[in-house]
Amino acid sequence: MTDGLVQIRRGREKPIRNRHPWIYSGAIAHAENAIDGELVDVVDHRNRWLARGCWNSKSQIQVRILTWQDEPIDDAWWRRMLLRAIKLRDNTAAGECSGRRLVNAENDFMPGLIVDRYADWHVLVAQTLFIDKRKERIVEALAAVTGADKVYERSDIAARAKEGLRPAVGPMRGGAPPALIEIEEGGVRFGVDIQGGHKTGFYLDQRENRRALAELVNHMRERAQDKLRLLNLFSYSGGFAISAGHFDAIHSINVDSSYAALELAEANFKRNGCDPDRRGASVEFIQADAFDYLRHCLDEGLNFDIIVLDPPKFAAGKADVQRAVRGYKNLNLNAFKLLENGGYLMTFSCSGAISRDLFQKIVFGALVDAGCEAQVIAQLGAAADHPVALTFPEGEYLTGLLLRVD
Ligand code: SAH
Repeated sequence: MTDGLVQIRRGREKPIRNRHPWIYSGAIAHAENAIDGELVDVVDHRNRWLARGCWNSKSQIQVRILTWQDEPIDDAWWRRMLLRAIKLRDNTAAGECSGRRLVNAENDFMPGLIVDRYADWHVLVAQTLFIDKRKERIVEALAAVTGADKVYERSDIAARAKEGLRPAVGPMRGGAPPALIEIEEGGVRFGVDIQGGHKTGFYLDQRENRRALAELVNHMRERAQDKLRLLNLFSYSGGFAISAGHFDAIHSINVDSSYAALELAEANFKRNGCDPDRRGASVEFIQADAFDYLRHCLDEGLNFDIIVLDPPKFAAGKADVQRAVRGYKNLNLNAFKLLENGGYLMTFSCSGAISRDLFQKIVFGALVDAGCEAQVIAQLGAAADHPVALTFPEGEYLTGLLLRVD
């Protein structure tokens, strides 16, 4: 038994028994000897043992459950859990890519811990105080399991503030990483900046959607008379347009508000044999607000064969949903207006607070206002190395649609 004890209010134990990993303060009757960032045992109102988790009084989510068995959370536990998560990736497309997510926090039953791998570098994100306090030991366990000797920390996510933590960024093993680490994904190469890039450096979660776009373009270009016009909005380091390939058959416009992201994108195009400075090359990088750029395209009477809309998270929580709905609607409405008949829209939301169902309704609303017709060709989500625990619906955040539009 561990020292801390948390007793659940009567009638609030069902989600815990059903293995939902979060316990909010409202479900807790009282806590004894519970230390922030340390283990607690969770019992029901009649003192029956339910689970073991970690405690943080500062967070709304006061307990995150690590196990439903009476087992120690020791180094052997970490090694076992890490190995289990890493092995799962071998059975997915991520297994063939040198950039992949190895640990997806609650969804891999290790609440608060993210580990991404880029070639021989590992990037760790400690989302909670519990993980933060033992990150060195977790890195030891990771090294024991994978031989990882190059580990960098990118614990600079906003959610750490809710745990009473400040950002923590820097080398953990193997010294300073190179400015760019090259990864390979389905024959395409990307330079990843794990120190200054977004998230841990790359949007690994979009891997299978980049592949879906590549497949679509493969088919489309066979029938196309002219160059296909691809508008890649919120392009970051160019992922979608570069994966689409066929640089001689596509004119891509990559739009992002971040100059640094577009610099990465340009370097990535070059890395894959498309030199934007070469005569006849048809790739553009535009630093702009995507909302403004869409209006500009409408004013100029431009049209596109494919539009990718992959905005950042518009809703961090329930309070932002209304504003987010307006944002998504505006983007999708203007995208519909700019598409050629028979064109394709690949549209996403990575706001966990916007359900798949709501997102589809928003896109439908935009479609009606644009006066278009559309068919769902595919429902899109995060790649298989970002699994969602069925017990943890909150783990699903990325939702998307591939639409054919008339
Ligand atoms: N599609 C990318 C990931 C996009 S992430 C990929 O597959 O890798 C969202 C991007 O939107 C970030 O690069 C961010 O810089 C950019 N961004 C945020 N707000 C923006 C805005 N208002 N207009 C244009 N770009 C924006």
